[in-house]
Amino acid sequence: MKVLVINSGSSSLKYRLIEMDNESVLAKGVADRIGIGNSSLKHTGKKEVVIEKNMDDHSAAIKLVLDALTNPEYGVISDISEIAAVGHRVVAGGESFTKSTLIGEKERAEFSDVIELAPLHMPACITGIDACRAVMPNVPHVAVFDTSFHSTMPEVAKLYGIAYEDYKNLKIRRYGAHGISHQFISQEAAKIMGKKDFNLIVCHLGNGASLSAVKNGQCVETTMGFTPLEGLIMGTRSGDIDPSVVQFLCHKKGWDVNRAISYLNKECGVKGLSGVSSDFRDLIAAEKQGNERAKLAVDMFAYKVKKYIGAYAAVMNGVDMIVFTAGIGEHTPEVREKVISGLEYLGIDFDNELNYNYKGDIAKLSTDKSKVAVYIIPTNEELVIARETLAVINA
Ligand code: ADP
Repeated sequence: MKVLVINSGSSSLKYRLIEMDNESVLAKGVADRIGIGNSSLKHTGKKEVVIEKNMDDHSAAIKLVLDALTNPEYGVISDISEIAAVGHRVVAGGESFTKSTLIGEKERAEFSDVIELAPLHMPACITGIDACRAVMPNVPHVAVFDTSFHSTMPEVAKLYGIAYEDYKNLKIRRYGAHGISHQFISQEAAKIMGKKDFNLIVCHLGNGASLSAVKNGQCVETTMGFTPLEGLIMGTRSGDIDPSVVQFLCHKKGWDVNRAISYLNKECGVKGLSGVSSDFRDLIAAEKQGNERAKLAVDMFAYKVKKYIGAYAAVMNGVDMIVFTAGIGEHTPEVREKVISGLEYLGIDFDNELNYNYKGDIAKLSTDKSKVAVYIIPTNEELVIARETLAVINA
């Protein structure tokens, strides 16, 4: 059975066709610059091709994707009827969606309530879903939410210290994000440990970055909040900040609130701190050349991760396993070293040689005498979406 996984951004549409019988990837690709000109589809199927063709909207993009998947030369299926279901990544599920769901008219209507909670992130997802449902009306479409995994957080973790009525009436609370990745890592970690009842800290360190505390397979804390702006310092996001800074910025720079929030999302983080780049490859290179601000940015990024590891060990009454994943978590040993050094009091015995000689796949970075296992596990969000999609249509 084949499942098509779709991840829609405002001007892009990423896809992956997965054969669920053996969970192998048959084809993958990305349609880029949708609606902004010079658009192209990069497709890897029987072979790799770049198709330069105008795509005015997401409907045009999904049609081109289906053409590529069925192309006799580089496609992988002979007819779109071979696609049993489509799984969509949805960044925010609000309070309504705590698990993956089949998208019918009722669910589609409820997405509108969620848009209000996540105006920066939801519109692109919904545009993609609408376009795919219109082009493939006879196939079940399933929404898999980036917030669902965090819905098990207890009230003490998910509420803000604001008037309770505002939580109840306006649904202002912490939702978290990256849940699909945190869920994948938790399941893989459970396989490695051979059990589900242990305390896990997942460090998803990419351009967007978040930690989660997972107790006995359930998320009990995460660093992102009402939106992905809260928590760690990220590529371009400030992370935790006193909201009074927004007022002060508006006053000093003559900005409105939207401008200030856009600044905190897009112009801050390690990019703003370093003045070099949001990309850790550039930052590490600059740090090695003696750039003090690049060093400060990398140090601050790692410091914040360490700080939350300490907090989460406290919240769970100890930690058995720490996992690094995503672009920086998997590929930047300098960050892993800075995060883990100084955590010996937790009982971590870290092998820094293994850390610098990581060659890919699942790897253990702690020694056998370490009380806390430290691992790298490459994330695979598309596989979780495909598995969830299959589970929903089989249910
Ligand atoms: P996102 O999916 O949030 O855009 P990623 O998980 O792709 O982010 O992570 C991007 C970050 O990972 C960048 O800061 C990048 O520098 C860092 N990184 C370091 N080495 C690599 C690598 N070999 N491949 C991909 N990303 C890398």
